[in-house]
Parts: sequence; C-alpha cells; structure tokens
Amino acid sequence: MKHRWWLLVCIVALGLMLGGTQGNWESLAITANLTRQNIQLPAAVHYPLPPSLAEIPRKGEDYFDEVQPVEVGYLLWTEFPVTVAIEPPQWDPNHVWQAAAEQAVREWSAYLPLEVVDARLPANIRLLSQRPTDQHNRRARFAETSYELFVDSQGVLRHRCRVVVRPSQARKFVLGALRHELGHALGIWGHSPLPTDALYFAQVADPPPISQRDVNTLRRVYEQPTRLGQRLPELTPHG
Ligand SMILES: [Zn+2]
Repeated sequence: MKHRWWLLVCIVALGLMLGGTQGNWESLAITANLTRQNIQLPAAVHYPLPPSLAEIPRKGEDYFDEVQPVEVGYLLWTEFPVTVAIEPPQWDPNHVWQAAAEQAVREWSAYLPLEVVDARLPANIRLLSQRPTDQHNRRARFAETSYELFVDSQGVLRHRCRVVVRPSQARKFVLGALRHELGHALGIWGHSPLPTDALYFAQVADPPPISQRDVNTLRRVYEQPTRLGQRLPELTPHG
C-alpha cells in the first residue's frame, strides 16, 4: 500500500498586529486549496470529548459562532496528551518568557491534557519567543499562531502549531498573549467579541484569565467533526 508523501501546503496564521497604541488580534486567513492539489482527504469524524472537558459543568454562553472551521474541519487535537515544546528564548529583556509560557500551559491543562516536552523534541505545539526584527515596523506582529498540516508515517492526516510571542512587553501582556495564542493552538480558531475572554480580539490593559465562555467554546470545538487524525484514502498501488 502506498500513501502520498508530502508536507502540506498551508500555513495559516492568526496574529496580533501592533499598530499605534492599541493592538488588534488580526486574522490572516490564507486558504490552501487542497482540491487543486488533487489530494483526497479522509472523511470528517466526531471524537469522544476529552474527559477533562466533559466533566466541566455546562453553563453559560460561548462564542462558538466566531470559530472558523479550516479546510480539514475543526482544528482540534485527536490524541492526548497534546505535547508542547517551550523553546528557550534567544532574547528576553524582561526575563518573563519561560515562566509565562509554563503558566499559560498550566492554565489550559485544566481543560485539556497537555504535556511539556524537551524543546529539542518534536511536539504538537511549539512556543517560540522572537526578537523583533524591525523596531521601526509598526505593524510587526507581537504574537502569532500558525498551523501546518502534514501526513505522518502511518498515512494519518495531522497538524502541528507554532506560537510565536515576542517577550517585548511586561509579564502580564506576554502571559496574556501566550494564553490567547495557546487558545488558538488548542482549537479556538477565532475571536471573542467580549474583553473579559482570553480570546478577545484586541489586547486589553489587564489581560483576563481563561473565562467560562472560553472553556464553553473550547468544548463546543471538541464536539465538532474533523478530518484530522484519520488515515488518507489509499492510493492505487503502482503496476
Ligand atoms: Zn488571536
């Protein structure tokens, strides 16, 4: 049996652009056209809700309507724990990066099983700090999450995420940005309209903790179907 081998294709990013005083978490949707590449995708399926999400009492609102499915369905993880690599910062003038990254992972661990792994190893989610490349570029991104689709050695469609946050601000903002971006990486591919949610679309003076609405939204995401975690249809063997 043969599978197609290729590294897809699309990197889609959601990021915070800083311009002037107020930053907006701005959406950059680059839609990869998988059909144009003649790639046959597996069918979308529902997965059981992870117990850590299932046991949280269902109450209150969510902003699930703001979450976008991507070309393979909802961007949820299908195997747990989700591994997270925290890359040691090359540049961290306020000495905030490591502790903020560890805390953001701990906070989301209450809702989904996450495991911090050695930064030299492959991981589902990679957290990176980044030195500003151009101090004068007012539109430079402060934070960004992107994902990449690939097919693993078993022929299974998977994704991995890359979160980049520049540790150029005070700790609460760096933590707020990591918390927000990690929310995207865990599957909330969209923004809340309310400033009391961690996934609010703009940066606020006091970044809020993960809210009940954030968690309700995360749960709705994990109740959705996705093609991720499924084997690609087999190709006709040569000859
Ligand atoms: Zn965002």
